[in-house]
Amino acid sequence: MDKKLVVGNWKMNLLREEALELSGAIVSLLGEDYDACQVVLVPPYTVLDVVRRGISGSNIDLGAQNVFSRMSGAFTGEVSAPMLLDAGCSWAIVGHSERRHIIGETDEQIREKLLLSISCGLKVILCVGETEVQREEAIRESEDISTRKEMLFSPIKTQIKNALHDLDEERISEDIVIAYEPVWAIGTGKNATSSEIAEIHGYIRELLTEMFPRLGDSVKILYGGSVKTGNIKRIMSVDEVDGVLVGGESLSADSFFRIIKSVGV
Ligand code: PEP
Repeated sequence: MDKKLVVGNWKMNLLREEALELSGAIVSLLGEDYDACQVVLVPPYTVLDVVRRGISGSNIDLGAQNVFSRMSGAFTGEVSAPMLLDAGCSWAIVGHSERRHIIGETDEQIREKLLLSISCGLKVILCVGETEVQREEAIRESEDISTRKEMLFSPIKTQIKNALHDLDEERISEDIVIAYEPVWAIGTGKNATSSEIAEIHGYIRELLTEMFPRLGDSVKILYGGSVKTGNIKRIMSVDEVDGVLVGGESLSADSFFRIIKSVGV
């Protein structure tokens, strides 16, 4: 997985015809054999099959926005990793902030989902990030730079450690991507500055190499949070940014195409 990665999270949007049109438009703009970076489309469950058809013959991968932590059984309303693989997915997003903060998913549930997904053969995009309150508190309450950093990094450290502790190094490097998504920047139009992104991505890299000395360095770290055509070049120029997780802008074929082209140069 040495290519940069661009993930389009459609969230709870689009009906079947719209999904077919959008996925088809992205393939037409990129060309079927585009492979300068890895692109993943992550539509709602109800249109996975439609998007699978839309991207067939191209190098675009299909992903799911969530996955349950059991293989099968009496779990009404849930969808398992084997079902997602059967629907054509090779990726699943786990721990998106909208699931952590709106649905109330815990670190423990997120770890269970992640473990079962990779054991079934899905690659996982693990989302982590601090809230606005946590960031403001770190800035307000800290007396010196090292306390500020410790407070700022603390939620990220907890989320990553709780999800990944004791995992096999090979699995980490091959099957897991981390997406740093400051909660305050998701869907708000607010942007993290380059130095804010560099500070957290640098810390995540440090933490990964401390937890996984042999292969922690090879895990991809994406940035997400109001990524747009106007800021993609700046974001991609920051150290340790291996790609982006795009929400709103991935719903426009033209904008998403321009973002992809800026990443896959
Ligand atoms: C997201 O869905 O993870 C996301 C980052 O959304 P947006 O790009 O709209 O902020």
